[in-house]
Amino acid sequence: MNVTPGRLRAIYELLQEFAPFDKWNLPESSLVTFELLAGKDHAEYSVDDRDRMCIAVNPDTHITLSQLVESVAHEMVHLRQDMLDRLPAKEPHNAEFRRWAKAVCVALGFDVQRF
Ligand SMILES: [Zn+2]
Repeated sequence: MNVTPGRLRAIYELLQEFAPFDKWNLPESSLVTFELLAGKDHAEYSVDDRDRMCIAVNPDTHITLSQLVESVAHEMVHLRQDMLDRLPAKEPHNAEFRRWAKAVCVALGFDVQRF
């Protein structure tokens, strides 16, 4: 599977069409940076030194399109935490994350244990 930043952006835009993302007022995709990760990291959300929100995914650890969609969805939950100034530096997978993640998984049919 040929993963590119543009395809990650397309997945982000796709997910924004579906609940619950369509109600979250996440930024337009043009305001988000999409990058490819190398090495051992699977996927991550970060803010770069120019204050741009960034979703990065490792193409080598994603075999299927489903995995890719789930990873972008996961990082979009972190993006929401960040937008609301509620992204904890130490433990980002807190109770609030898990509540929002569960809403995503229920709505979109993802496995909440894996998510
Ligand atoms: Zn996470």
